[in-house]
Amino acid sequence: MVKYLDLKKITAKYAKEIHDAVARVVDSGWYLQGEENKRFEQHYAEYIGTRHCVGVANGLDALIWILRAYKEMGFMKAGDEVLVPANTYIASILAITDNGLKPVLIEPKLSSYQIDDDLIEKHITERSKALMIVHLYGQCAYSDKIKALCSHYGLKLIEDNAQAHGCLYRGRKTGSLGDAAGHSFYPGKNLGAFGDGGAVTTDDEELASVVRTLANYGSEKKYVFRYTGRNSRLDEIQAAVIDVKLRYLDQDIELRKQVAARYLQEIRHPEIQLPIVTDRDQHVYHIFPVRCSRRDALQSFLDNRGIQTLIHYPIPPHKQACYPEWNNMSFPITEQIHREELSLPLSPVITGEEIDRVIDAVNAFH
Ligand SMILES: *Cc1c(COP(=O)(O)O)cnc(C)c1O
Repeated sequence: MVKYLDLKKITAKYAKEIHDAVARVVDSGWYLQGEENKRFEQHYAEYIGTRHCVGVANGLDALIWILRAYKEMGFMKAGDEVLVPANTYIASILAITDNGLKPVLIEPKLSSYQIDDDLIEKHITERSKALMIVHLYGQCAYSDKIKALCSHYGLKLIEDNAQAHGCLYRGRKTGSLGDAAGHSFYPGKNLGAFGDGGAVTTDDEELASVVRTLANYGSEKKYVFRYTGRNSRLDEIQAAVIDVKLRYLDQDIELRKQVAARYLQEIRHPEIQLPIVTDRDQHVYHIFPVRCSRRDALQSFLDNRGIQTLIHYPIPPHKQACYPEWNNMSFPITEQIHREELSLPLSPVITGEEIDRVIDAVNAFH
């Protein structure tokens, strides 16, 4: 069987270093807010290219804390609007509604699955305070047009970089292109921990400091509480593990790109739309999405041939039960993507022979 993602095999690649790092933390007797966090935050800030990095409990919290910090800093208040792509993992949107802010959903481009930057301006109102872009599937959503719109209208540009660690836009990493970025280290992400983890990167010193305080009960000083925060910290074991994996991230991304290059070259099927990537730097293939109008048939066809696939994602946010007020809204492109998308197996540990099998099976689809 070709697994969608073989985490055991991915971990085995760095087993020695990871076991050493975990043992170091275990033996140290210090498990939270210690040297491992400090080291990882410094390395990750250097890697992304920002002045600050704050480790937090998970990627959703990273996004929640960015928006909450902007509220505490007086840039926005409950009821203000945040523009966000309509086709994203629910976490991007949950972070907005969790803060009492209003998500304004914007259709993506079918060619890139990223927010359509031609549609943003007409959704901007007096209450718009931020634009959250999502580098979905690992592909860069940023554009000079987005930057210009944010500057012109005074919007904070927030990046959801949960799927795109290491992705580049003209030599700069995603996660450093806007005012602040949320990152996830969920085990299946390109930079994955052994449990939950996340981070906020930013050049804004005040924002970094407010995020750090919020994620530590709202406390800067022990037993003194400035905000009603929560406990949302990155633990020392996770920080040590991802610090090891960070050293290999660029190598792993290169391997992902090589797998993607084979799929892009060798998958040929009139019913299957491959991702369109115009700049090799601008995709780290967290996910390799294909589209097919007979998606469910394609998925069972591949399943019968021992190839695991996933759907990212089966139900768009506006059709979810948790947002009944949007259920009757229509986002045709978003809905088409959710109806047609299928993710092929792709990872730094997939073998050449497994890639052959995926290609042959997809090309044989009937
Ligand atoms: C995974 C993910 C998140 C949330 O990260 P968690 O660490 O799982 O909370 C946010 N946004 C996107 C686009 C994601 O893929």
